[in-house]
Amino acid sequence: MRLYHTLGIEKSLFRGNTWLGNDLDGKNNTLLHTFCCAGFCRWLQWRPMTITSPVGPGPFRAVLAAALVFLLFSCSSETLRPRVDEAYLLGTVVRITVYTDEAEALLEPVFARVADIEARMSTSERDYDRTELLDVNRAPAGTATPVSADTFEVLKEALRYSELSDGAFEVTIWPLVRLWDIGSGHESVPSEGDIARAVSLVDYRKLSLNDDGSVTLPEEGMGVDVGAIAKGYAADEGARILREGGVKHAILDFGGNILVIGSKPDGTPWRVGVQRPDARRNEYIGIVYTSGRTVVTSGPYERFFVEDGVRYHHILDPATGYPSRNGLEQVTVVGDRSIDADALSTTGYVMGLPAGFTLIEELDGVEAVFVTEDHRVYVTSGLKGPDGRSRFELVDEEFRLMGPPEG
Ligand code: FAD
Ligand code: MG
Repeated sequence: MRLYHTLGIEKSLFRGNTWLGNDLDGKNNTLLHTFCCAGFCRWLQWRPMTITSPVGPGPFRAVLAAALVFLLFSCSSETLRPRVDEAYLLGTVVRITVYTDEAEALLEPVFARVADIEARMSTSERDYDRTELLDVNRAPAGTATPVSADTFEVLKEALRYSELSDGAFEVTIWPLVRLWDIGSGHESVPSEGDIARAVSLVDYRKLSLNDDGSVTLPEEGMGVDVGAIAKGYAADEGARILREGGVKHAILDFGGNILVIGSKPDGTPWRVGVQRPDARRNEYIGIVYTSGRTVVTSGPYERFFVEDGVRYHHILDPATGYPSRNGLEQVTVVGDRSIDADALSTTGYVMGLPAGFTLIEELDGVEAVFVTEDHRVYVTSGLKGPDGRSRFELVDEEFRLMGPPEG
C-alpha cells in the first residue's frame, strides 16, 4: 500500500479485505498484504472515512469499491504474472492490476497522476485548504477563475452531461453536496429552508466556461462539483499511461469504476461482477463479460447515513435537493471511456426508469444495467447478444430479468 500524503496518513491506509481474484500467486500476496494493512489500521485506530454498512461486517466501502467485483481471473500465461498495487485516492481505494514485468516503473506515474487530479479537482474542504475547484467555488460572483486544462476538460464534459440530462446530472451541485456533507461522519438532515436555498443556487445554465480556460459563476454561493465524473477521467488517464507504456492487460479499479485494458492474458474477456446491492461484498447479481472497456456503477450505498430509520445517500436530485429516490437501487454503465460511464451511471440513477434507460439506449457506445429495489433488472440491447462487444449475464435467481421498461 502506498501512502499519499495529499490525503494525510490516516486516510492513505485502508482496511484489509481482498475481493480481487487473480492467479493464485497474486491472490495470496494481496491477501497477506491487505491483512497486514488491516492490522496496522486497527493499531492506528484509523476511522474509515465512509459510512459503515448496516449489512456488512466492518467498514463497507473500500468497500463499496464494490459496486463491482472481479471474478476468477485465471491466467493461463506462464510468463505474465499480475502485479497489484493500491492507494487511497479520490475517496476510495484505487487498485491497479497489471500484467507486465515492468510494473514498478509504470504504476508510479499512474498513481502520481491520479493524486494530481484529486489535488486539482477535489471540492472537499475537509481534505484540502485549496484546489482549483475550491478556488472557483470561493471566487467572488462574476469573477473569472483560471483552471488547468485538465480541470477545464472535466468541467466541459460535466456541463455536457448536465445539458444532455436536462440537469439530472448537475455540474453545479456543490451547494447541495456541501450542505448535506455526506461522508463527514457528523451528518444530519438539513432544514427545508436550507435545502430550498441550496437548490436555488444550483443551475448549470449559469456556469460559464470561458474561451481563455477560466470559469465564472454569476452568484455568490454557487459552486461546481465533479465527484460524479472525475473518477472516470482519472481512470481513463491511468489507462492511457499504462497503454502508452505498452501494457496489454490490466484492471484499474477505482471503487465502483472498473476499467480493463485488453482481454485477460489468455485472450478471453474479463469477467466483471455487478455487485448485489443489498448484500455484502463478493455477492454479485450478474457478470459483465468485456475486453478493453469500462464498467461503472452508481448506487445509494456508496456513501450514506441513517436518521430516524431513513437512509440518506450521496446522489442528490437537483430538483428536490434530497437524495434521489425513484425505486432504483443501482445503475451500471458499460462504455469505452470511463468519464462517460461515470457521468452516465449517476445520470441514469437520478433520471430513473424509463427516462434514464431510454437516454442510454439512444446514445452510441454505451450500455447499462438498471437494478430496482424490488429486484428487477433492465439491460440495454447491446449487452444482451452474444455478438456484442460486452455481454451481461444474470446469475442471482432472486433477481428477474425484464424487457424494456414501460412508460
Ligand atoms: P457517483 O454517482 O459517481 O457520484 C456521486 C457524487 O457526485 C456525490 O458524492 C457528489 O459529489 C456528486 N453528485 C451528487 N449528486 C449529483 C448530481 N445529481 N449530479 C452530479 N453530481 C452529483 N472524497 C473525500 O472524502 N475526500 C476527497 O478529498 C475527495 N476528493 C475527490 C476528488 C475527486 C477528483 C473525485 C472524483 C472524488 C473525490 N472524493 C473525495 C470522492 C467524492 O467526494 C465522491 O464521494 C465520489 O466521487 C463519489 O463517487 P461514486 O462513484 O460513489 O458516485
Ligand atoms: Mg458517476
